[in-house]
Amino acid sequence: MEKIPFLKPNLITLDSYKHYILEIDNSKIYTNYGPLNDKFEKRILSEYFNDSGAVTTVNNATLGLILAISQLKRPQGKYALMPSFTFSATPLAAMWCGLEPYFIDINEDDWFMNETQLEEVLHQLGDEVAVVVPYATFGNYLDLSYYQQLHQSGIPVVVDAAPCFGTTYNGQHIGQGFGGAVVFSFHATKSFGIGEGGLIYSYDQELVKNIRIAANFGYYGKRESIAFGLNGKMSEYFAAIGLATLDVYQQKISQREQLYNIYLEEIIEAGLLQQGWGVQTTKGRIPFQFFSILCPQDEQNTFYIEKFEHHNIQTVSYFSPACHQQKQFMNCPCADLMVTNEVTKRVLSLPFWEEMDRSIVRRIVHTIVK
Ligand SMILES: *Cc1c(COP(=O)(O)O)cnc(C)c1O
Repeated sequence: MEKIPFLKPNLITLDSYKHYILEIDNSKIYTNYGPLNDKFEKRILSEYFNDSGAVTTVNNATLGLILAISQLKRPQGKYALMPSFTFSATPLAAMWCGLEPYFIDINEDDWFMNETQLEEVLHQLGDEVAVVVPYATFGNYLDLSYYQQLHQSGIPVVVDAAPCFGTTYNGQHIGQGFGGAVVFSFHATKSFGIGEGGLIYSYDQELVKNIRIAANFGYYGKRESIAFGLNGKMSEYFAAIGLATLDVYQQKISQREQLYNIYLEEIIEAGLLQQGWGVQTTKGRIPFQFFSILCPQDEQNTFYIEKFEHHNIQTVSYFSPACHQQKQFMNCPCADLMVTNEVTKRVLSLPFWEEMDRSIVRRIVHTIVK
């Protein structure tokens, strides 16, 4: 049986970005918010955010999170509240800002941070809260109305929307109009993959301006540092790949949506839902990165990962271990993480790449039943 890899990144190829690279050869501008970066940002703002608010590119989403958290955190605050069910980059970014991650549980259905529990912890911690960092789990459309209120009430919010570039609901992009910061990743394994890269959006143009200053050594106009900063800039080469990726991205999202629906159909047809298997409740148009599924309650994902491997199918389990189960974050404070513990025991991430067809999906789904 031919091996089915978990991911097969399908970044655009040279022919589609060659003309942009030639522009770099002519302009001799290689970075520092050059003309291609400028064009890339303007297109994103207009094509994805209806020209409301502002965006700035960064060289990866982890630095984007660090920059956004460091701009917004309350100076007297100590904790960054976030779900444990997220990628390690979220708590690490908070730690680079001198904060301690404080882990909150997730909902059983959509796997977003549990807002009721969060509210209780906010009450308990009061002024010790520096920032709240929700995660838009696996690209799912997170309705930000609660977080918008929170942000306006003076508790800053930075959304880890790393896999969400292109996620929309009723035609509106995730984060659009949001006053805090929303951070996206363009890493090769994300659906909008360019190698390494990222983007910060906010409706608050002043915030984006300050993040941009911080991402350029704290320089504003002159070569004099006026703010705490670092180097978080995207090079013109990556902006070139980004521009060419924009041209095909809607098509990529459609392909990924289609593949997701094929998975759902095959899972339903195989009767897995009746046998206790579960899927994430999703909303909107999502550029899915992989297919997440929960094995039945009394079983463990590790059993199935081995079973798949035996059938030459590569699967992983995002995010198992969850952050609070990892050595680096084990001593961080946390609320009752009952759902997180249950989901991390059962979650499996199934292969997902753009050239996959129904016969491959069928082989994967039937391996579960075997
Ligand atoms: C991918 C990812 C990141 C990190 O993005 P990079 O661009 O690789 O730094 C952060 N958070 C989450 C949830 C992610 O999935």
